[in-house]
Amino acid sequence: MKTYRPSKQRKRILELLRSTDTHPTASWIYDRLKKEFPALSLGTVYRNLRILQEQGEITHLDFGSTFDRFDGRVEPHYHFICERCGKITDVMVPALKDIEGSFSPELGGKVLRHRIEFFGICSECLAKG
Ligand code: ZN
Ligand code: MN
Repeated sequence: MKTYRPSKQRKRILELLRSTDTHPTASWIYDRLKKEFPALSLGTVYRNLRILQEQGEITHLDFGSTFDRFDGRVEPHYHFICERCGKITDVMVPALKDIEGSFSPELGGKVLRHRIEFFGICSECLAKG
């Protein structure tokens, strides 16, 4: 693995991500740190997020056309996505550890990871009717 010089900005980005469970976007992170680091740019935030991902410190949720979201929680878990407000919530069901090995032989390849997403309407949106 490539090594990177430790950076104070990267350390703060990681702290910020670990302190929230909202799966923020890069611009949410940028907005919160630009006062502390006036020279920070959105590009720097993205670059540091890529490095943190490479180092296995964070994960990244790719939703195709919408903005990428980042997650400070790295242990396997699933997500519930509200189709009204877009909120992403962690789903605390045990991760299916054995599922990947169960069909790898049929593929002739090797499954490295999987993801499961649940879609619906969150409690706040439901309450609004
Ligand atoms: Zn909602
Ligand atoms: Mn999560």
